[in-house]
Amino acid sequence: MFATLVDLVLPTSCAGCGTAGVAWCDRCADRIAGGPVRVPPARWLSGLPPVVAGGVYEGPLREAVNAYKEHGRHGLAAVLGDRLAVAVRACVPAGRAGVLLVPVPATPAAARRRFGDHVTRLARRAGAGLTRAGVPGAVGFPLRALPRPDSVGLTAAQRVAAARAGLRLRPGRLGDVRAAVAAGVSLILVDDVITSGATLDAAAGLLRSAGLPVTAAATVAYTPRRPDSPESES
Ligand SMILES: [Zn+2]
Repeated sequence: MFATLVDLVLPTSCAGCGTAGVAWCDRCADRIAGGPVRVPPARWLSGLPPVVAGGVYEGPLREAVNAYKEHGRHGLAAVLGDRLAVAVRACVPAGRAGVLLVPVPATPAAARRRFGDHVTRLARRAGAGLTRAGVPGAVGFPLRALPRPDSVGLTAAQRVAAARAGLRLRPGRLGDVRAAVAAGVSLILVDDVITSGATLDAAAGLLRSAGLPVTAAATVAYTPRRPDSPESES
C-alpha cells in the first residue's frame, strides 16, 4: 500500500520500459502512437457492435494499462485516455452531433481496490480531448455493475452469461442518454481492454433493450489472441 501511494506522487520509472526518472518516456510514447486498430468481429457474440482499439495489448501499452489499473499509476490516465480518444474518433460517423461515451462500469469492489473507476477516468480524459478536437464528447452513466466473481477460467458461454448477469440499467440516468441520442449524438461504449468481448456485447444488448442503439465500442487496447473464444477451444 505504501509503495502504491508513493508511486501516485512520485513515479520513479517509465511504466512502459522501466527507464528511471520519468513516468512515461518518449520512446514508449512513440511505440504506442500507431493505430487505431479495427478489432475483428467475434461471430459468436451476436450483440457486439463494431469495436476499434487504440492499439494491441502488448509491449509498453500493455505495461501502461497494467500499471494504471493495478498499481495506482493514475497519472497514466492522460496517455491511455488519449489512446482511447484515437479509437473513439475512428468510430464516429461523419456529420454526427457528437459522442456520448458510456464506460463499462466497474464493480464496487474493483472501484474500491483501484481508488476509483478507472475506465470512467479514461472516458473523461478522452471526452475532453475529443471536444477540444472539434467532436463534442461527453460521458454518460446508464449502466451499473453488480458484484460478481472473477471471470478467469470461465468458458466462453459462461463468460457471456456472467457478463449479462453482472450489468444493470440505471433507470434514473436513461433520460439524459435518450435526449442525447435524439439530438443526433452517437453512443460509444468504452472499456480499457477487449478480450473475449462478452462484456461489451452484454452492455450493448442491455442498452439496445432500452431503445438506445450503440454505434460502436472503443477500447484502449485489444488482445489479438482470444484463448477463451469457441474457435480456439475446438
Ligand atoms: Zn519507456
